[in-house]
Amino acid sequence: MKLFLKKSKKQWKTTVWMCIFSLMVACLGFTACQRNPTCYQRIDTAMGTVVKETVYVEKGGEDITAQIRQQIVTLEDQFLSRRKDSAEIYQINSHAGEVQGTAVSEPLWEILQKLLEVSERSGGAFDFTIGETVRLWDIDSYAAKEKEEVVLPSLDQIAESLANTGYEKLQFQNGRINLPKGMQLDLGAAGKGIACDAVLTFLRNQPHVAGAIISVGGSILTYGKKPDGTLWKVGIVDPQNPSDYIGGLRLEGQWCVSTSGDYERYVEVKGKRYHHIIDPDSGYPADAGLLSVTILTRDGMLSDALSTACFVLGYEESLELLQSFGAHGLFVDKQGNVMLTPGMEMYYVPR
Ligand code: AMP
Ligand code: MG
Repeated sequence: MKLFLKKSKKQWKTTVWMCIFSLMVACLGFTACQRNPTCYQRIDTAMGTVVKETVYVEKGGEDITAQIRQQIVTLEDQFLSRRKDSAEIYQINSHAGEVQGTAVSEPLWEILQKLLEVSERSGGAFDFTIGETVRLWDIDSYAAKEKEEVVLPSLDQIAESLANTGYEKLQFQNGRINLPKGMQLDLGAAGKGIACDAVLTFLRNQPHVAGAIISVGGSILTYGKKPDGTLWKVGIVDPQNPSDYIGGLRLEGQWCVSTSGDYERYVEVKGKRYHHIIDPDSGYPADAGLLSVTILTRDGMLSDALSTACFVLGYEESLELLQSFGAHGLFVDKQGNVMLTPGMEMYYVPR
């Protein structure tokens, strides 16, 4: 105190200037933080769908959007594709009916066990052994305009494909899987969500990433924070007018949102819409009175698999299933009514 009071006029001047200088440095630092993180955006394709990325990277970080896309491509090429011979699912399918079965890697084993659980708990509404019936309808080819003339499958063909379908017919033993002859696995109903999980694992290992929102087709991952402190906004497509939105979810931190809808991939014959989500009971496109289902959970694979299961089950039948998984749901029925599970209400904002 004594020393402080004893300062000369010159010393006083220096002290004041130092204070002003320190304040200026502090303000500059704050402004620099405000300008950061840098935002990187990318729109691309992977897994046969559109991948949109927005990533906020802290100071000193690099544009990692290409690496994120690569995670998805690798997942598809190594594990999930039923079209590329490099993928395990392709290999498993091509060995259907063989006694020795096919060896399954640890990551895919884990995925298949979790999907088996969703199949069981949804009473088979979600069934990833539905590949042969999906191939029969081939809605993807019509939707992609790869096929012009529409030929719908016959009742006999559908019955035959269903005879070879059913998750309960799968055999898992000693790290190998056995598919009965004629069965084909199709992970299309969970693949985009699995991709979100892979991206999440990647992002968690990137110390410079402050926040990100990544959409892989109908599945969207939110992660971390937006630099301006506002919530993530995930639009819910209006199934009656897919270029518009009925509203959106306001989310904080890490979530996964998946939507299944009859407007996503379909073909129309004589005014009737045949879409890509098959009811494993009938072998026909699911018709449970819904146009779309959106599921909100922390886990990507679960949100994606559940969105398909609930679309097949319908609103009432889905409620217990969603509750048992702690997942939230938003349903749009054929009249355009929007129904929310109680847990979804705090996140949804209508337009
Ligand atoms: P999503 O758009 O997530 O509902 O997934 C639909 C895709 O999953 C279809 O294109 C098929 O490849 C496959 N799929 C169709 N119906 C089912 C079903 N009931 N269970 C599991 N996968 C299905
Ligand atoms: Mg799905």
